[in-house]
Amino acid sequence: MKYSDYLKKRFNAKVHKVSVDAGFSCPNRDGKIGEGGCIYCDNRAFSFQNRNQTQLSLEQQVEEGIEAAQKRFKAEKFIIYFQAHTNTYAPVEELKEKYDIIKRFKDVVGISIGTRPDCVDNEILELIASYADDYDVWIEYGLQSIHNKTLGFINRGHAYEDFLKSIELTRKYPIKICVHLILGLPNETKEMMLETAKEMARLRIDGIKIHPLHVVKGTKLEELYLQGKYLPLELNTYIELLSGFISLLWPDTLIQRLSAYCPKELLVAPEWVSKRNIIESSIS
Ligand code: SF4
Repeated sequence: MKYSDYLKKRFNAKVHKVSVDAGFSCPNRDGKIGEGGCIYCDNRAFSFQNRNQTQLSLEQQVEEGIEAAQKRFKAEKFIIYFQAHTNTYAPVEELKEKYDIIKRFKDVVGISIGTRPDCVDNEILELIASYADDYDVWIEYGLQSIHNKTLGFINRGHAYEDFLKSIELTRKYPIKICVHLILGLPNETKEMMLETAKEMARLRIDGIKIHPLHVVKGTKLEELYLQGKYLPLELNTYIELLSGFISLLWPDTLIQRLSAYCPKELLVAPEWVSKRNIIESSIS
């Protein structure tokens, strides 16, 4: 089922996700787990100066996001998506203070928290689950691939086994799980990508977000691309891989996203990555 259909059915209204940057960091960048971050991660997003200049308060971000979605999409209800960086990477008191922002907006019906598989524990999951009586509650784990060789190459700083542990832990709570995956990672064959889909089906994951690997300016991946060591997927190849991938998923998995968005000024390649309409219409 499409995620949009699920939301419509569940809330009987047009629901839109409002993304926020709550000012968290990432342990794969600050030295706690690793340094340099994932090879495709945009360094400028972590620039302190950049953040200070552009960052609105959390409340302003929610307010403006809701207003924009009402105007642009005629949305009636909202899910607040803690998107930027690792949104469970802080003391639990700080997490609660930030997540509680959802209580200040009457039309907010859900919360979705993006994080890494190695950044949750029982205390954090208990906090997240505490919203489940009143809200649709999701956690979004960045995984990208089940293959440890690939995770090592892209410098994720965690193994597939960490993801399996986080799934086991999360399933003790009333929290739905969405997994982020990338097609076209360096050195991955079609068979490897399809193995990732089969694993997601075996685990009966609630939701999936998929996108093609794309090269962002200023990243380690850009260096590899410029040296000819990484070749992005062609659009047709991506669509073919994506169709095969989706066909292997558990039928009840909600597909939340089929591509990515990257601002033109930051995108190096492939140029088609933000053409979500073309991709979506080729799949459905
Ligand atoms: S885990 Fe996420 S935020 Fe951290 S380096 Fe990787 S992509 Fe960037």
